[in-house]
Amino acid sequence: MNIINVGYQSTNYYAIDIKGGKLLVDCGWPGTLPQFSGELKRKGNSIQDIKYLLVTHFHPDHAGLTQELKNLGIKHILPDVQIDFIPQMTEFFAGKKNYPYVPISTNDSIHLQVGESRKFLAGIGLQGEIIHTPGHSDDSVTLILDEGFAFTGDLHPWYVAAEEDVVTRASWDTIQRHKIKTIFPGHGK
Ligand SMILES: [Zn+2]
Repeated sequence: MNIINVGYQSTNYYAIDIKGGKLLVDCGWPGTLPQFSGELKRKGNSIQDIKYLLVTHFHPDHAGLTQELKNLGIKHILPDVQIDFIPQMTEFFAGKKNYPYVPISTNDSIHLQVGESRKFLAGIGLQGEIIHTPGHSDDSVTLILDEGFAFTGDLHPWYVAAEEDVVTRASWDTIQRHKIKTIFPGHGK
């Protein structure tokens, strides 16, 4: 399994090998397409290699480029637990002229119930599933690959999650029910 980190501006974006291309997990701030493209190139890939995008949650440093990537023909996988949170991004960028945010149209996204994600992922050549892991935000999801990899976005590591943060702790319990050997976080190593 080939996984490369094509992150920049202190956020990690992961490109994972799938059938006929790559799945991108998370994407950067609006207007950073040249930077993203440069990062891909530096790692020996190009934007044309990216076939699908999954964002762990709709915060600007994880989903800002969504529509710009969709406009290039990349298919956006939209888990059911995230759909209500997209307007928050539009609100966040309202009036922020420095950010050329392109609002996300969801009608042409691939709408996916998390419970059916295993079937969908198998279709693109990945053995694993997408699970709902709230804590950092209510729309956070984790991509689990059966090889033992978890892409957890901004879910606070279990060892820093406060005792009373029962939501985060429950999400880690769910993740750890899978046999995970490597965590790929949204920030840091
Ligand atoms: Zn976040």
